[in-house]
Amino acid sequence: MSEKIEAVVKNSTRLGEGPHWDDTTQCLYYVDLFVGDVHRYNAVTGDDSRLNLGDTIASIIIPRQKGGFVVSKRTDLAILDSWDRDKVTSIANRVEADANMINDGKVDASGRLWFGSCFCGKDIPDPDNWPKHQGSLYSLDPDGSVKKHISNITISNGMDWNDDNSVMYYIDSIARQVWAFDFDITAGTVSNQRTVADFSSTEIPDMGYPDGMTIDTEGKLWVACFDAGKVVRIDPETGTVIRTVKFPCEKITSCCFGGEDFTDLYVTSAAPAQLGKTPLAGSIFKVTGLGVRGRKANMFAG
Ligand code: CA
Repeated sequence: MSEKIEAVVKNSTRLGEGPHWDDTTQCLYYVDLFVGDVHRYNAVTGDDSRLNLGDTIASIIIPRQKGGFVVSKRTDLAILDSWDRDKVTSIANRVEADANMINDGKVDASGRLWFGSCFCGKDIPDPDNWPKHQGSLYSLDPDGSVKKHISNITISNGMDWNDDNSVMYYIDSIARQVWAFDFDITAGTVSNQRTVADFSSTEIPDMGYPDGMTIDTEGKLWVACFDAGKVVRIDPETGTVIRTVKFPCEKITSCCFGGEDFTDLYVTSAAPAQLGKTPLAGSIFKVTGLGVRGRKANMFAG
């Protein structure tokens, strides 16, 4: 099985993040994090458009069941009522300390938004010098209530759930851990934390920092490797890397499945100050021919 990698939107971001495939419109939504823009890439027309949310930091854009989107800007969660009208209404103000920011988020199968936080830098993180343990993992229920679940996270990042919603997978990039938790979808709680994959161990060499993550229909994890130019497929039962896809730039940030049958992997990336030998850094990549598929992403129920 050989895959093909294509830069479908070239150099559209400084720090591309938070990809979400909307199957009803065949569009990929994503953010340019330290610019504060949200993007919509229409895979049918090839058109990429952007909106600024009124801040210099945005990390989440996920469609709502009621229409429009739930978005994050800095330490706030908000509703963007439609792509065309560009009206942003806050629904949860300052859920984090002023020095921090909201980072990656994803909606569970009940329509609840999970999101994490970290210290807010001014630019693409230097992982070795990031203030430790400033972040947390939260959820936002459809009724607007915010709950904190885990503290002492350094850079809260990728998350996803297994098919029967009994397990939540979650990443702290600086701890370099992919964790699993028992997940109670009715109560919206996590418990029994354990390590699935340890990127600091010698068993997973040269993989950089785990960042965004998605899951395929076989229950295997696809993890973006920041500073290593890869997305790896991990078997959470064994904690081993069972496949590696290499990209033409180092700072690979996140991934999600998309396309008409969810067999394409869309991958975001970040651009260093000087593109140098990686002229495609900051592009959106599409990987085809992987021979696996993902599933429809959930929309926010609030
Ligand atoms: Ca991330």
